[in-house]
Amino acid sequence: MVRALTVAVCVSAALIAGCETVDTTKAGVVGVDRDQRFLVSSEEVNAGALKAYQQMMAEAQKKGALDKDPGQVRRVQAITKRLVAQTPNFRDDAAKWPWEVHVISTDEVNAWCMPAGKMAIYTGLIQKLNATDDEIAAVMGHEISHALREHSREQVSRQMGTQLGVGLVGALLGIGDLGQSIAGQVANVTLNLPNSRQAETEADRIGIELAARAGYNPEAAVHLWEKMAKLSGDSQPPKWLSTHPPHQDRINDLRQYAAKVMPLYQAAKGGAAAGK
Ligand SMILES: [Zn+2]
Repeated sequence: MVRALTVAVCVSAALIAGCETVDTTKAGVVGVDRDQRFLVSSEEVNAGALKAYQQMMAEAQKKGALDKDPGQVRRVQAITKRLVAQTPNFRDDAAKWPWEVHVISTDEVNAWCMPAGKMAIYTGLIQKLNATDDEIAAVMGHEISHALREHSREQVSRQMGTQLGVGLVGALLGIGDLGQSIAGQVANVTLNLPNSRQAETEADRIGIELAARAGYNPEAAVHLWEKMAKLSGDSQPPKWLSTHPPHQDRINDLRQYAAKVMPLYQAAKGGAAAGK
């Protein structure tokens, strides 16, 4: 059944999208430039993401865990709004995406952005890291960049290509019955499975540029990793670290690219000061 579905999806994707090879984003100052192959259309992935997102938010609402602190929600919305305003630097169509963010009350240290801009940040991340605005911008800039690069669509495509399918983790918040559907697969790759190292590097670099352009200090990405690392010895290590494996190359790369986009940050800060 899974195999038949996979073949059917690839054939229909081939007819619709031509099993295309594209570069989803413009290079930016950070110069991310890599051709990507997709076996499933953006439309299918985005529809799946929307379904999974609605289900998860409804579940969070039912548990009384959705957007509980209005001040915190406003803060997160203000930060993501500034980041989203910079996304057309990487792809023009992103300005029209149905961007949305919610704050979910749970001890888990996590944040994510599903395809087409459906985001969530968990209170565990904000509180346990005592995250500054710059650090929240670093996390969300990184997650938004995964969506801009369509990394989830790429990962679903790769799994279809190898016909492995995706084993769904049942404990996933509120999407248990989505099973092997596209919605279940998209949610699983976005929330549970680590991205490739290459995808992580791309999201780090684009994320740091988005943050800088939005007037958030790009060096906060490095501080964020240091704070995450401190929590890694806890009894409940940050979930975010399981999907974003840390390593020294990553920190070095972030430092180097933070320096590269620093003029963008200074220009944004200067512009903001001049506008006051
Ligand atoms: Zn990532």
